[in-house]
Amino acid sequence: MAGVAVTKKERDKILKAGFDDAFIQRGNYYEIKSKNGRCHFLKNELCLIQEIKPLLCKIWPVYTIFKRDKKEILVVDCPLARKLSKKEIQKLKTMTKKVTKGLAMLDYTNVPASIKKKFKKLMA
Ligand code: SF4
Repeated sequence: MAGVAVTKKERDKILKAGFDDAFIQRGNYYEIKSKNGRCHFLKNELCLIQEIKPLLCKIWPVYTIFKRDKKEILVVDCPLARKLSKKEIQKLKTMTKKVTKGLAMLDYTNVPASIKKKFKKLMA
């Protein structure tokens, strides 16, 4: 099962902090290894890399996808989403909009060509 996508920069930061090299390279980005849907860095229901967790984890349960050059910001239906207030969800959505370019790099396969081009250098 696919894990959370991270940029090279995020992976380097996690490795530099001394954590396992639990990443799988997917072209220009990485995924955190997971087993039975559980992230490698989840231990005793706590995130081992909480202080330096990747962007996608920080904004969860708000998620950005790209469909035929059209950006959509979704709130994923997970137990956490039901606990958040409308205000908190709105704050995450605003944060997501600000970091959309970063997310575009992660979800590289579905990114509009214009954005791909713009971020090609950063992905190297
Ligand atoms: S928050 Fe931590 S444990 Fe959860 S998916 Fe992200 S890195 Fe893994």
